[in-house]
Amino acid sequence: MIKAIVGANWGDEGKGKITDVEAAQSDIVVRFQGGSNAGHTIINNYGKFALHQLPSGVFYSHITNIIGNGVALSVENFIKEMKSLEERGVPKPNVVISDRVQLVMPYHIQLDTFEEARLSSRSFGSTKSGIAPFYSDKFAKIGFQVSELYDEEEALREKINQVITLKNVLYEHLYRQPKLTVDEVYNKLMEYKKLLEPYVADTFTLLHKAVKEGKNILLEGQLGALKDPDFGIYPMVTSSSTLAGYGAVGAGLPPYEIKEIIAVVKAYSSAVGAGEFVSEIFGDEADELRRRGGDGGEFGATTGRPRRMGWLDLVASRYGCQAQGATCVAFTVLDVLGYLDEIPVCVAYELNGKRIDSFPPTNQLKHCKPIIAKLPGWKCDIRGIKNYADLPENTRRYIEFAEKAIGVPIKIVSNGPSRENIIYR
Ligand code: GDP
Repeated sequence: MIKAIVGANWGDEGKGKITDVEAAQSDIVVRFQGGSNAGHTIINNYGKFALHQLPSGVFYSHITNIIGNGVALSVENFIKEMKSLEERGVPKPNVVISDRVQLVMPYHIQLDTFEEARLSSRSFGSTKSGIAPFYSDKFAKIGFQVSELYDEEEALREKINQVITLKNVLYEHLYRQPKLTVDEVYNKLMEYKKLLEPYVADTFTLLHKAVKEGKNILLEGQLGALKDPDFGIYPMVTSSSTLAGYGAVGAGLPPYEIKEIIAVVKAYSSAVGAGEFVSEIFGDEADELRRRGGDGGEFGATTGRPRRMGWLDLVASRYGCQAQGATCVAFTVLDVLGYLDEIPVCVAYELNGKRIDSFPPTNQLKHCKPIIAKLPGWKCDIRGIKNYADLPENTRRYIEFAEKAIGVPIKIVSNGPSRENIIYR
C-alpha cells in the first residue's frame, strides 16, 4: 500500500513528525521532490534532528529510505547528514539513491546566490541551496544524472564543456565572476561518484517490486501545496511540484497505487519567504504566536529565519487539501493555541467587495482580505491528552469547525512535538 504525507499549506506544517510516526509501520520511505532547501524537524529518543536531504525513515532500522529521482540531490548535505546521524548514535540507516536522481552542482548554489544578490529587494527569499537553477537545468536538459558519473571520461568532459559554456556567459557578463573550468567540474563529479557509490541503485525496479509484494511505502513530501509551481502562489513558489500526485513521477510508481494521501494542516498559519499570505498577522499578536509556536518558536529549520505568522486559513487549507487529493487530514500544532481566549480563523476572502470561498491565482490573491470568525479558546494545556473524547469541548469544536470547512476528515490530531503527542480519531 502506498501512502503519501504532504503539506496543505506553505510548508512547516509538521510533516516530519507525522512521517516519523507513520514510518513505524512502513517498509520503505521515499523522498520524491525538493532538496535541501527545506527541513523536517523530528524529535525522538536520539534527540532533535532537522533533516533536509534524508528521508524521515532513517531512525528505524527496518526501513529502506529512498532518495527518489525527483529529488535535487546535494551530495555535500547528504554526506553531512549521514555523518551527523552517526555522531549522535543513530544506527546506520539503510539509504538507497535513485540512479536517475540529478545532482545539485556547486554552480547551482553559486548562481542562486548571485541571482538573489542581483535581485536584492526583489529577491525570492531563496535559501540559496541551488534549487531553482537545478530544476531549470534539469528541464533544459543540461543536468547531471547520477548514472552519468559512470560515463567515459571523454564524453563526460564534453558534456561539462557544453554546460559551462552557457554558465560562463552569466558568470562573466551578468555576475562578473571568475569563469568555471571543465577540470574543476569534472573533479567535483568524480568526488561525488566516490561518495555516492555505496548508495546508488535502480530504485524504480526496487519500488515496483515492492508494490507487487504488497510492501508499505510512504511518500514524503516537502513544503506544501501553496508552494507548488502550478497551484501555489507563483512566482513565490518552489521549483518542483509539492503535490502527492507528483509522488508517482518523483519516485517512479503507478499513480493509482497511491491509496492514502494524508494532508498535513497546521492549526494556525506560518510561512517563510515572500509571497501572498491573506491571513497574515503582524506586531505583538504575531510575535506571541511565533514565540509560542512549533517546538520552541517558529523559526526556519533550514535558515533560522523568523517565520511569518497568521491564523488558520480555511480557504487556503481547503484548496491545499484539494490540490493534494487528500483522503484525510493530520491537524497539527493544536496545543500552541491553548493561550488564546478567542481564536480567529479565516473563513472566506473578500475580493473587490465580494465574498469568495475559492483560492484565486496570485494576481487576484494580492487583493484578497481575510474574513475572520472567532471561535472560543480552551485556555489549557492539551499536550498529555491521548483520546479525542478527552480533549476540551472547545478544542473539539475548533477541530470540527475546521474539518467541516476543509471537507476532508481530520483523522489525526497532533497535540505536541514528540512522537507520543498524537491522537487518532
Ligand atoms: P515540516 O517541514 O512540515 O516537517 O515542519 P517543520 O519541522 O519545519 O516545523 C514543524 C515544527 O513544529 C517543528 O519544530 C516540530 O517539532 C513542531 N511540531 C510538530 N508537530 C507539533 C505539535 O503538534 N505541537 C507542537 N507544539 N509542535 C509541533
